Amino acid sequence: MPGQDLHEVLLDLSRCNACSGCSGVCPEIFGWDEDMERPYLRRHFATHDEVREAIALCPKRCISAEGWPEEDY
Ligand code: SF4
Repeated sequence: MPGQDLHEVLLDLSRCNACSGCSGVCPEIFGWDEDMERPYLRRHFATHDEVREAIALCPKRCISAEGWPEEDY
């Protein structure tokens, strides 16, 4: 079924502005580290449907999925 393949989720915190949007829209994938005030990955693999909202929402483009062209976000 299209969109159900698992992709490795990549999170580049070097640009993160700590808006917490990713953990708000996809809490099953992105946790929130209160001490670091940054998101972390609860799971390292996700389907398109599970993670695309966070990728589209991230204002700093910190989130990507391996093997998944940027134009498909
Ligand atoms: S949505 Fe992007 S900028 Fe905001 S906390 Fe998540 S990774 Fe950082």
